[in-house]
Amino acid sequence: MEFLFSDGSSRVLLQGEAALMEHHLSEEQLKVIKNNNIIILYVCSPGSRIGKFLFPETKTGYHANIVILDHTICKHCCFSVDEKVAVILHEIGHLLNIPPSEKKELSDFYADYYVKTVGFKASLANSLKKYISSDLPFISLEMKTEIDQRIEALLDPNQSPLKGNIGQ
Ligand SMILES: [Zn+2]
Repeated sequence: MEFLFSDGSSRVLLQGEAALMEHHLSEEQLKVIKNNNIIILYVCSPGSRIGKFLFPETKTGYHANIVILDHTICKHCCFSVDEKVAVILHEIGHLLNIPPSEKKELSDFYADYYVKTVGFKASLANSLKKYISSDLPFISLEMKTEIDQRIEALLDPNQSPLKGNIGQ
């Protein structure tokens, strides 16, 4: 899972999460993530920067994607290893399951649907529940309402597929 990280602290601090992803995702699913140059950055200092060293060598015209995870919020919400993995996969979902332009406002639901396809829907629902019941000051009533709808969709076994432009 070396390909997921470009900096030492993210690699060390997310060792357990990387191992869990490697264990649960299929070789094909991991290959798609790798092919899309997705790098995870775990932000756990007052300041961070995204320098070119974070980007893997790419072919011209091929973009790198950085998924950022906030240590302070993860800690505040007491996310477990599988819940952090689900949050990472949700962000990867934004990169790999892009809704058609007329459904842009549903992008979080599409990202969640990706998480569902890789088997972490319960963990994501749990992390979202913890997030909205935390006392973080920037979570508005509107955000809570939308997150409640997302939890409902995640746990709905009869949800119609939300297949966007799934990355290969
Ligand atoms: Zn999102």
